[in-house]
Amino acid sequence: MKGLIVKGVGGFYYVEDDEGRRIQCRARGVFKNEGITPYVGDEVEFSMVDDEEGVVEKIYPRKNSFIRPPISNVDLIAVVVSASKPKFNPFITDRFLVMAEKSSTEIVICINKCDTAKEKDIEKIAKIYEKIYTVIKISGSTGVGIDELREVTMDKKTAFAGPSGVGKSTIINALQPGFSLETGEISGKTKRGRHTTRHVEIFHTNYGAMVYDTPGFTSFDVLEADEAELQHYYPDIMEYAGNCRYDNCMHIKEPECGVLKALSEGKINQSRYDSYKNQIEEIRNKKRY
Ligand code: GDP
Ligand code: ZN
Repeated sequence: MKGLIVKGVGGFYYVEDDEGRRIQCRARGVFKNEGITPYVGDEVEFSMVDDEEGVVEKIYPRKNSFIRPPISNVDLIAVVVSASKPKFNPFITDRFLVMAEKSSTEIVICINKCDTAKEKDIEKIAKIYEKIYTVIKISGSTGVGIDELREVTMDKKTAFAGPSGVGKSTIINALQPGFSLETGEISGKTKRGRHTTRHVEIFHTNYGAMVYDTPGFTSFDVLEADEAELQHYYPDIMEYAGNCRYDNCMHIKEPECGVLKALSEGKINQSRYDSYKNQIEEIRNKKRY
């Protein structure tokens, strides 16, 4: 039988079949030997060991997968930034975008907290990204822009990414009233529990989307690209890389660089270029150790 892993907790995987039934499964021992862990989002084959319990027999090839959180087959990553507090950080945002680009997911940027943010702060962020990605101005608190986000997430499996406090849980709750993920407003004690005891799960919304309910992508393990590869995850930089004199140009200080030219003409956003350059330096530094 075929199904989708919708939840993983304590060595059990909950597999949903075509009719929406959930079967508690263990994973075949052979996965462990091969160093494979089933992830929420995996399409699998399973069989029943008795009336109640099943076993995951096979994991179909993944479209993509992540380690923290351990999820797979993500269609869309919603990168959430806050237009008020915490303050927008372009470098962190661009790293999330690189992660998403590398995993070949679709991307949407949610500028959250538009209810309390200054118009000029919202526009500053929008201006950087709207030429490259779909940008939605939203407020998880008031519901502004949530309909638009519903439309973008329809029929997809969406994961939310962004630093802690930008409003990911609040937005997920707003997508479907009735959801009740814990948000940062919960008392200290419960909040701590959120990061230690929460399992990973994917939910159906009532409007035909699936959302990974995880604490979200909040950090990175390591930088996920090598030097020559990195520019491929910056579509706005790639657009001008074809104009460079040297085809191994890294667009740092090479002569006759199409990217540096576009930057000086204002065609590439300075903060995007700074993020790119920063990441190149980071990759070079790492190689030295
Ligand atoms: P997460 O860590 O990214 O999941 O962020 P949370 O959803 O826990 O939100 C962090 C804090 O920001 C909470 O106090 C929320 O109530 C608040 N918050 C979230 N979205 C909004 C918003 O759109 N406007 C305002 N004013 N506050 C928000
Ligand atoms: Zn160049």
